[in-house]
Amino acid sequence: MKIGICGSGVGGLSTAIGLLSLGHEVAVFERAPDTRTTGAGFNLWPNAGRAIYGLGLKEQYRDISVQLDRYIELDTEGNELFSTDTSHWPKTYGAPAVGLFRPELARMLSDAVGLENIRFDHDVVSVENAGDKAICYFSNGNSYEADVLIGADGINSHVREQLIGGVTFRPNELYAYRFRSVIDLSDIDVDPAAQTGFYAREGWLSFIPIGKGKAYWFGSVSGAESFDDFIDFFSSWTKTPIPETLRNTPAELLVQSPLQDVDGIPYKWTHGRIVLIGDAAHPMMPDMAQGASQTFVDALAIRDAFAETDSAEEALVAFERRRHEVAKAVVKISQKGLFLGPYNVDPLAIRYQNEIEPLTALRDRI
Ligand SMILES: Cc1cc2nc3c(=O)[nH]c(=O)nc-3n(C[C@H](O)[C@H](O)[C@H](O)COP(=O)(O)OP(=O)(O)OC[C@H]3O[C@@H](n4cnc5c(N)ncnc54)[C@H](O)[C@@H]3O)c2cc1C
Repeated sequence: MKIGICGSGVGGLSTAIGLLSLGHEVAVFERAPDTRTTGAGFNLWPNAGRAIYGLGLKEQYRDISVQLDRYIELDTEGNELFSTDTSHWPKTYGAPAVGLFRPELARMLSDAVGLENIRFDHDVVSVENAGDKAICYFSNGNSYEADVLIGADGINSHVREQLIGGVTFRPNELYAYRFRSVIDLSDIDVDPAAQTGFYAREGWLSFIPIGKGKAYWFGSVSGAESFDDFIDFFSSWTKTPIPETLRNTPAELLVQSPLQDVDGIPYKWTHGRIVLIGDAAHPMMPDMAQGASQTFVDALAIRDAFAETDSAEEALVAFERRRHEVAKAVVKISQKGLFLGPYNVDPLAIRYQNEIEPLTALRDRI
């Protein structure tokens, strides 16, 4: 089959890898001029690892990621609030929780797809079904006709907008922004094999090692609109490594992302021969770090659905049946906020074990 994919993020590239492995002709269209080289760190859970292994990238994934053996939460004075051992997760869940550097993940995926299959500077402006084909139109006036089109164009998906209209986002109730950057692990006094978070009710910051002597930090503060507000909030946390970390973070390496929340996911992902995946299909708050993990699971599910039938329509329906309810449940879990936040919910590692993994009662579903 001839398959066009709109977007070369985590979802577009991993879906391309699975479909290329089945022998399909795949073209990925990306509006940016090149492979993503920006971004900070990423936290991926065992369900992402299982999907990546399933796509045949186990060795490459191990090379670019750091296994997280502990999950630690501390208060503003550095006293332990909670800790749990996650070193057994590879055995228990089939893959570890990891930290990695996002540009390296992008490079791993684009190497596996092959640059000859990615067309940069292709901005998708519209899509349509046309009999037993689907057509994608670009801002440069060109078009691409395929047997199947996959909308993997992210949280503000143009393909989704075309198919079902807008999804209404609202600013997150407590935190408007997530601040992130990368630093040298040797500059901070934290466990090099753990995710370590420091928490108060109004704000928090977490460190995750990402390999090659680096770690990334990420956090949010209620009411902080700028990096200066963020730094001010933590200035009195002198018994933690945070004030020094923020002092050592050059402003040009800082990433500030708005946090958008949704009330639900699109009720339907498949429209004729066009389907949504990844953030386009299930936009979610990053609090559970499940956005990309769920997207990798989509990619494996698409690959499996196309392996089971020669009918494009049947494959898309099977994919959506396998994934829609699970993704919807994960979006809800991701909306609960963080440990010691206003909702006072369980720490993330506990929620992963108790709420996300059980959704995988059938291991191949997630
Ligand atoms: C602050 C923050 C932190 C996060 N941290 C984590 C984390 O630690 N772990 C985790 O699992 N998830 C995390 N996420 C979520 C994760 O980034 C997303 O879930 C994941 O990137 C979704 O992949 P995607 O391929 O669907 O979309 P994206 O990765 O956004 O890729 C979409 C691609 O489509 C392209 N595109 C968009 N429009 C068009 C168009 N019209 N034409 C052509 N191309 C187009 C874009 O340029 C982009 O390359 C985080 C999100 C945020 C905001």
